[in-house]
Amino acid sequence: MKNNVAKIPFVNLNLQHQQIQTQLQQVMQTVLDTGDFILGAKLQEFETIFANLSGVEYGIGVASGTDAIALGLQACNIGSGDEVILPANTFVATLIGVLRAGAKPLLVDCKPETALIDLEAAARVITPNTKAIIPVHLYGQMVSPTELLDFANTYKLLIFEDAAQAHLASREGYHAGSVGIAAAFSFYPSKNLGALGDGGMLVTKDADVAQKMLRLRNYGASSKYYHTEPGTNSRLDTLQAAILLEKLPYLPQWNSDRYQAAQQYNLELNSVALPGINPIQNHSQSGHVYHLYVIRVDANSSIQRSCLQEKMTAAGIQTGIHYPIPCHLQPAFTNLGYQPGDFPHAEKLSQQILSLPMYPGLTHSQVKAVVLEIMHSVSPQKNKLLYI
Ligand SMILES: *Cc1c(COP(=O)(O)O)cnc(C)c1O
Repeated sequence: MKNNVAKIPFVNLNLQHQQIQTQLQQVMQTVLDTGDFILGAKLQEFETIFANLSGVEYGIGVASGTDAIALGLQACNIGSGDEVILPANTFVATLIGVLRAGAKPLLVDCKPETALIDLEAAARVITPNTKAIIPVHLYGQMVSPTELLDFANTYKLLIFEDAAQAHLASREGYHAGSVGIAAAFSFYPSKNLGALGDGGMLVTKDADVAQKMLRLRNYGASSKYYHTEPGTNSRLDTLQAAILLEKLPYLPQWNSDRYQAAQQYNLELNSVALPGINPIQNHSQSGHVYHLYVIRVDANSSIQRSCLQEKMTAAGIQTGIHYPIPCHLQPAFTNLGYQPGDFPHAEKLSQQILSLPMYPGLTHSQVKAVVLEIMHSVSPQKNKLLYI
């Protein structure tokens, strides 16, 4: 029976690259011919278009999403002596960005239903030194912009969005990237908009932040060989920008493919109604761009998460865990002084979440096969009948 189950990868980038292969080859040849490899015309074009699509004026391409956070915070004048609030259940790059900017991270717990930062918990850690909050639009779902803006107004904090998983996401009429003073995007290959290598961008509505970011990514130079601050070398390659520019027109369709697949997962999971197995909730309707589709395997389930994952793997279905260890329990950050038990929702989620295959081009029958395999893994007896 298991041999009949199609192999379903966790992501499949070949599908999108085959779709536009000729265009990609042409544009790579164009960059090769023009030779403007660093800070070239295609970079500027991509920066402007992507920033505008995200609802703001300025875009500054950098070498990675991590650099967009680290340098972006610096561009917002956040650094030594400042505290920055962020969720414990994010990819470590959010935390690394704060530390690299020289600020002190204040980790907080998340809401169990959405896995998004808990703003009530955030309010409890604020001190006179707290300068900013980094909402992470995790899995492709924005943190509520109206709640964020209320929060930031009440406590006089800056909002710096980590939108690395939320290209073109929206909620309550806001685009990801347009809520705060600035936002960081990543173009890591498997992100909703991915380069053929590393890349990132800071987008901002603030002209001063944009100017400082332009300097920081280019050795701190305000003009050639004149350096006003100790910046670094972190530019998005013209080649990668040209590739991203070719992909960009397809992004709305690719996001909508993800959304459709997610809707189908919801439907299929709902119809099999397995106790203790539920998707992370979407509170933002069609504005969710489903970088990841994540289910939760809780104590009411007859199977443990690890066991389910093993069975899925054996059946040829790749899954992931985003993320298996919350930031505060990573060995690299023990010096921050956090303990197990500090963020119970984040910790519980890290033990219960499972990311299912999700990418543009994932078919209806593949989604069906994934849910059927979950059902089979959870209750082999019940399912045997269905297979007869
Ligand atoms: C991918 C990611 C980053 C880091 O981006 P890189 O381009 O890999 O440096 C930061 N935050 C989140 C939430 C991410 O998913």
